[in-house]
Amino acid sequence: MKVVALAGGVGAGKFLRGLVRAVPPTDVTAVVNTADDMTLHGLRICPDLDSVTYWLAGLADRDRGWGRAGESFRALEEVRGLGGPAWFGLGDLDLGAHLVRTGWLGEGASLSEVTARLTAALGVGVRILPMSDEPVATVIDSMDDDGSGRTDPFQVYWVKRGARDEVKGVRFEGIARARPAPGVLEAIEAADAIVVCPSNPVVSVAPILAVSGVRDAVAARRERAAGVSPIVGGAPVAGMADRLMPAVGLEVSALGAASAYRGLLHGWVVDERDADLAPRIENVLGMRVAVTDTIMTDDAVAERVATAALELATG
Ligand code: GDP
Repeated sequence: MKVVALAGGVGAGKFLRGLVRAVPPTDVTAVVNTADDMTLHGLRICPDLDSVTYWLAGLADRDRGWGRAGESFRALEEVRGLGGPAWFGLGDLDLGAHLVRTGWLGEGASLSEVTARLTAALGVGVRILPMSDEPVATVIDSMDDDGSGRTDPFQVYWVKRGARDEVKGVRFEGIARARPAPGVLEAIEAADAIVVCPSNPVVSVAPILAVSGVRDAVAARRERAAGVSPIVGGAPVAGMADRLMPAVGLEVSALGAASAYRGLLHGWVVDERDADLAPRIENVLGMRVAVTDTIMTDDAVAERVATAALELATG
């Protein structure tokens, strides 16, 4: 069964580890958000591509939730000591990937080619595709404590400023020029199942859908598409979705997250804590709902969540 997963970072990485227990990894294509990418220290950093890669390679730091297990931060401490920007946590093993990627991009390779080389080197069987080879940058318009307006790149809003600013709007710079990376539309068209990972609907999945042709390709396969709620019991399991969803008119609930995919998905997996929302999701949004434990504390739970999503997508 060929499966396409639309993926952000950590929520997606955990879910994909379960998905590859349910179907062979070589049957899975993950289309990953790149709108969080940035250049820092002259290095091209792709947090969601790297998170998904590290989780699938078994190299992620499960407790911290980002970066590589067992890495040190000596280079970052040196950057701090030298007076450089040290607000973005870059471990020494993670830095290796950014060095290699930046070098290859500089030699003219596309982000897709670089991603294929990195994932092959780390033994990842899933095909990981960036949503686009062209750069797209999420920008957050907000208001700070003093009431002054700000505009920040996504990582500055989230990591440097700790999501403290009141979000007024979210924009994806460069999205109009971004074409889907090679293979993205073809994979969606050929998929037996399309799954939206439990990822941030506003800054992880929305940019993927906004790349030209992707939303229409998914909508055309709606009967084969299902998603998993990243919102459990009225709050995100991790991250800042609760700060962003209201700014784009979405209620912070499993229903509100589902409504981001109105007309795109046939099924929606919610947590047991949100079972009471199932009738409204079914009646208001016309999606079939499956209810299960979706807190992916280990791969066995993630496999059950993935199986529920696949059953909805193919049922
Ligand atoms: P990020 O770019 O690393 O923040 O990654 P994602 O967009 O993939 O993931 C963030 C979303 O995943 C957040 O909204 C979380 O609520 C959700 N998430 C993380 N872990 C879990 C989990 O175990 N279960 C569910 N249902 N959602 C999760």
